[in-house]
Amino acid sequence: MNLSDVNVLCMIQLLCQFSPNRQRLVDMKADMVALLPYFVQRQDEILQLIKTLVEQESTSRVEAQLNQIALYVATHLTPFASVIRVLPQTGYGSHVLARLACGHPDDAPQILIVGHLDTVWPIGTLERLPFHVSADGVARGPGIFDMKSGVAIAMKALEAIVTQNLPTKHPITLLLTCDEEIGSKTSRELVEAEARRSVAALVLEPPITGGIVKTGRKGIGGFTLKVTGRAAHAGLDPAKGINAIVELAHQTLRLAALNNYERGITVNVGVANGGTTSNVIPAEATAKIDFRFWHSDDGAKIEETIRNLQPVLDGSQLTFTGGINRPPMERSEKNLALFEIAKNCAAEFDIDLREGQVGGGSDGNFIAALGVPTLDGLGVDGAGAHAEHEHIIVADIPQRAALLTRLLTQI
Ligand SMILES: [Zn+2]
Repeated sequence: MNLSDVNVLCMIQLLCQFSPNRQRLVDMKADMVALLPYFVQRQDEILQLIKTLVEQESTSRVEAQLNQIALYVATHLTPFASVIRVLPQTGYGSHVLARLACGHPDDAPQILIVGHLDTVWPIGTLERLPFHVSADGVARGPGIFDMKSGVAIAMKALEAIVTQNLPTKHPITLLLTCDEEIGSKTSRELVEAEARRSVAALVLEPPITGGIVKTGRKGIGGFTLKVTGRAAHAGLDPAKGINAIVELAHQTLRLAALNNYERGITVNVGVANGGTTSNVIPAEATAKIDFRFWHSDDGAKIEETIRNLQPVLDGSQLTFTGGINRPPMERSEKNLALFEIAKNCAAEFDIDLREGQVGGGSDGNFIAALGVPTLDGLGVDGAGAHAEHEHIIVADIPQRAALLTRLLTQI
């Protein structure tokens, strides 16, 4: 696989024909509960796919690696898609868009499945933390929980729908992006364009540990604050200086005072830098600020409050750059109605599906903000996203694949 293959795939749409008399192992139209045994039988095959994806390291911004994994996924999906596009993004990698061949006109309102191929783990992490399945049924490896196992079950759900000829009410599109972990800079427009033609969106990000799906996510914003003071000799002319670090300290306390845990508003000064040496009144200091909120009006208010902060020390200057990056995925009636469908599907497999809200963002935020019913956290159960103990529970693979497949037929 090389970049020219990616370009070739990018240029064309592969139209695939299917044999009308393909063998069906189980009559799933008659008995959808058969989906669970179908995926239990394929657990090892799906685990093998997860291993293959984990072993293709794909750190955000490592373009060659992200092109390669995109091409792998696209190639795997080609037999089941009416349209496959690999969309290279210079400096980032490639997004993959697959429209499922399930017999609907391509312009009918669709169900959108969303995931990402990039991970936070630097290339080479695999040497330290190789893919490994332990005797207690836990699989580990960089990016396995967030979210290569989610990518794998999405791929296998699409395969099941096409090969088992399962009836769906809507066309289905899978969109896998290459830059979610770094803010979705090159993918946001594409995610939103696909969302606008969707009746619902299913996001294959990891669940809250315990398999709890996500009906709400906080909105996220960030600012860089640059404080400008005036340098002076700390011993000879201290009064002539304006201490940018002292000014930053004042602003840090003001920012901290904006926290309102009850309403779910958080403001964190996470990085602070300033000064040159101890005998100079520092002329410059900078800070990086993260803020999060459940409700979009809270986000707008916090953003405005921060932008309007005024200096405390005479002669110092504040420059804020940044703002809201992701709107909140509010726990709306639409999201809860979609959750109810998922809960009913899960009940068919004797799974008691629960929902929750989290402070972290995903591409689900962009979709839900457009008013599209969104259910997130549909990936495989486990824990440790972005952490050394990242893992999934192998026995959960068939359950989540069955749930996703069933859900795709029920929306
Ligand atoms: Zn993720």
